[in-house]
Amino acid sequence: MTSLLIKNATAILTGLPGDKARHAGPDIRITDGKIAAIGQLTAAPGEHTLDATDCVIYPAWINTHHHLFQALLKGEPQGINATLTPWLAATPYRFRGAFDAESFRLAARIGLVELALSGCATVADHNYLYYPGQDFDTSAILFEEADALGLRFVLCRGGATITRQLEAELPQALRPETMDAYMTDMERLAARYHDASPTAMRRVVMAPTTPPHSMRPEELRECAALARKLGLRLHSHLSETVAYQDSVFGTHGISPVRFCESIDWLGNDVWFAHLVKLDPDEIALLGATRTGIAHCPQSNGRLGSGIAPIRALEAAGVPISIGVDGAASNEAADMISEVHATWLMQRAKGGEAATPKFRAGSGEAGADEASVEEVVRWGTAGGAAVLGLPGTGTLAAGQAADIAIYDLSRNPRYFGLHDPAIGPVASGGTAHLRALLVGGRQIVSEGALPGLDMAELAHQSRTAVRKLIARAEAA
Ligand SMILES: [Zn+2]
Repeated sequence: MTSLLIKNATAILTGLPGDKARHAGPDIRITDGKIAAIGQLTAAPGEHTLDATDCVIYPAWINTHHHLFQALLKGEPQGINATLTPWLAATPYRFRGAFDAESFRLAARIGLVELALSGCATVADHNYLYYPGQDFDTSAILFEEADALGLRFVLCRGGATITRQLEAELPQALRPETMDAYMTDMERLAARYHDASPTAMRRVVMAPTTPPHSMRPEELRECAALARKLGLRLHSHLSETVAYQDSVFGTHGISPVRFCESIDWLGNDVWFAHLVKLDPDEIALLGATRTGIAHCPQSNGRLGSGIAPIRALEAAGVPISIGVDGAASNEAADMISEVHATWLMQRAKGGEAATPKFRAGSGEAGADEASVEEVVRWGTAGGAAVLGLPGTGTLAAGQAADIAIYDLSRNPRYFGLHDPAIGPVASGGTAHLRALLVGGRQIVSEGALPGLDMAELAHQSRTAVRKLIARAEAA
């Protein structure tokens, strides 16, 4: 039996709701990878200890939507000021075919390292780099890179069987798969990687890239049926912009959420990224079916999409989680900047909707739209809920020891806080990560990943960006 005692934390946020959101601690005992106790604890003879003086402790973050290959596509000039649809064409789709096994692996490593150093233990990646004749296995590379760092990894297997152009005119990397190939690969991935346990290190999810545009309705129904037969969850993009609404209304004659209802894609085993633009009946339907959201405020801000109505969604019953989305539409794809943006942008949305009393409005509003405790709950327990990993995401006895410990004594940004517990979210920035534990195993120590050569990773990233640009221009 291995045991570790985290001693003397300044504050502990648990990820739990209501008056359980804070625990006085100040100590946490971890035994065999799980939290054994939280309270005033005394070290047993020979027990390892980790000093958390001046530190704030959160459950490690759970990122529920990402595209790791985009870590080498940040700030791409042709897409930097574009909205979603032209950005997709200018950046991720233009560069898809430029990736090989080496650059894909490097991108995955950069993205995972960035997340780990922000205190993230679990990453759900929506990977859609699959095409006929592809000579490298992106699924295997992602699992290998997450394993090497010690992170929990959820592969959301993207893909498409239709495109809006003739297949023969498309570059190879944009050609659709056959439905047979997609389903065969899903069964292969589920058999090889999927672990259904509540603290799984590896999961597989059925995730056609964007339902109304990636597959035919009957194929999407087949996906939902196979996923439920195999015990897999369903994930995708939905309702990111007004153009998305226009397109789904134009093609299918109904709203995006109603379309998902018609193909069996709603339920507590489904979560969607974005959900920025929703009609009131769509919010009610998502809530009634307990369909979840991966809220991605930085990407939604960067692409000018809007701000998802998180407060209304939660009130309707929608499980809320937070995702960073791909780094080609979010140049800060770490969880601390994402939760900081969540906290600010929900408040700004509340204020935007406020109207003055002299016009029969209700006056000032917004500051109660999102508390730090709620944001922490969305980014931790909420992620565990949408991913179906109930043994993670909260700090309580019996839960997996996925723990982020932030030292606020190293940076003046965090000095002077009357309530240090809120510092990492409310102050933003880069709180010094004294430790990140995943299943009790320490994978970050004093802001560094042991064995990782950061200067070498930076050098490799510069070389890889030059190569990707040359390949994309040659295509
Ligand atoms: Zn996305």
